[in-house]
Amino acid sequence: MGVHLLFKTPVKLYKRTGDFSPVEYAELLSRARSRLPESVFEKERFEIPKTLGHIEGNKTVISNFVSIADTLRRPVDHILKYILKELATPGVLRGSLLVLGTKIPSTRINDKLRQYADEFVLCAECGKPDTNIIHEGDFAFLRCQACGAKKQVKAKL
Ligand SMILES: [Zn+2]
Repeated sequence: MGVHLLFKTPVKLYKRTGDFSPVEYAELLSRARSRLPESVFEKERFEIPKTLGHIEGNKTVISNFVSIADTLRRPVDHILKYILKELATPGVLRGSLLVLGTKIPSTRINDKLRQYADEFVLCAECGKPDTNIIHEGDFAFLRCQACGAKKQVKAKL
């Protein structure tokens, strides 16, 4: 985690230490990084981006829904269908904006996205998002590419 934060704030760190020029610092960083195993850069828990948006009259406008879908590596339509059903609200994508037909606090939307991720994205065993949904007969399963675990997807869409 410390390493991760470090990468996000190279400029601040440079200002604080004053020892390296930004270029030298970037070089040092990439050299140090190339020596570290990949796992150092993996977060302990997969983080779903928080929804960004605002209330507009009686509607809720979410501006980063498409990028959340990208992060979850699932089709936008699939997540949208789930979210609308769970929130029991109409909603439509307008370009990259998700417009929900009622006023909904972002915490509620974030909760539903977490539910979606638990059900359709994150491995129940190792917590990693490197999964795909496979269909066998009438059942759908979430299969993890990282650890090989497989669990049945119970939610119906
Ligand atoms: Zn796994």
